[in-house]
Amino acid sequence: MARILVIAEQRNGKISDATLELCKAAKALASAMGASPAAAVFYKNDSLAKEVAQYIPEVFAVVDPKLEVYSSDTYVAAAKAVVEAQDVKGVLVPHTYDGTDYAAKLALNLGCGIVTNCNKFEVQGGAVVFTRNTYNGKIQEQRSVKTDKFVATFEKGAFEKEASGGAGSVTAVSASIPEPRRKFKQFVETMAGSVDITQAKIIVSGGRGTKEKDKYNDIIVNFAKKIGGEYAASRPVVDAGWTDAARQVGQSGKTVTPDLYIACGISGAIQHVAGMKGSKVIVAINKDPEAPIFNIATYGIVGDLFEVIPAIMEQL
Ligand SMILES: Cc1cc2nc3c(=O)[nH]c(=O)nc-3n(C[C@H](O)[C@H](O)[C@H](O)COP(=O)(O)OP(=O)(O)OC[C@H]3O[C@@H](n4cnc5c(N)ncnc54)[C@H](O)[C@@H]3O)c2cc1C
Repeated sequence: MARILVIAEQRNGKISDATLELCKAAKALASAMGASPAAAVFYKNDSLAKEVAQYIPEVFAVVDPKLEVYSSDTYVAAAKAVVEAQDVKGVLVPHTYDGTDYAAKLALNLGCGIVTNCNKFEVQGGAVVFTRNTYNGKIQEQRSVKTDKFVATFEKGAFEKEASGGAGSVTAVSASIPEPRRKFKQFVETMAGSVDITQAKIIVSGGRGTKEKDKYNDIIVNFAKKIGGEYAASRPVVDAGWTDAARQVGQSGKTVTPDLYIACGISGAIQHVAGMKGSKVIVAINKDPEAPIFNIATYGIVGDLFEVIPAIMEQL
């Protein structure tokens, strides 16, 4: 039977949540296509393969010391070996830094089409149609590939995590793993990574309306400090690198329930609201009176955040 294969992702020997989400996706897609779900795990030993087997019925393990840390050279070689040794119809890859780094190269090596940044799929007449975001989620488009096989990358948070408890099989697959052309030196934990915004009682969150990194820091970070809270952000702010991913609120970020959540220049997209709607008091500052954030706000201030926030700070 053809397989829908998840390529597992690990860092420091820990399987990512995105992998578990794709286990759920693979099961649904395989069932819609009359295929079977499976995962491929690449590591220095088979411990992670055994772990992933709790989430999906069949796991293929490529074991090599060179697979202890991620590299696109080694991952493409390992994934190609699994796809060629097994009857694989589709390959699902997390749309993460690592996944986006190697997925296109893998598709090239397999000679198949790729659809990136997907968040949904449906099967129409045996063909998979992927829905993907474009223009930061403002537009969704549908795509399918013309080739027999496909590679698809999926956004984090597009599916729920699969629950553990299964007892899948683990099969070793031999592969010739090349020396990676990039040399891994060390992991450096970011300072911001240690922030846990989920514990904050007060959160000041900035969105794309803050315009640029310096303004985000100047307005949002200082406002948060002034009122003894933590600063946070919507996804475009994190994607643009204005603040750290540990501070992202929403479906693919953190879920927060502070006493006070001040949303500044945030439109109120459903994926953002999913992460903060449980806040006790929500204050929205937005210059667009029609912004959806006002639908869930306890208090709304229609105005330019660059005028409103300094005015509040002055009063404080
Ligand atoms: C699978 C998936 C997962 C996602 N996960 C997340 C997630 O975890 N978190 C998240 O946030 N998004 C997430 N998104 C993206 C989400 O769909 C929206 O694109 C995003 O939340 C929009 O961010 P924003 O409100 O900052 O930007 P925009 O939607 O561009 O809104 C900017 C707002 O700022 C206002 N504004 C502009 N200038 C000013 C000013 N001077 N003063 C006051 N207001 C101003 C505008 O009126 C506008 O309302 C996800 C999307 C998908 C598909």
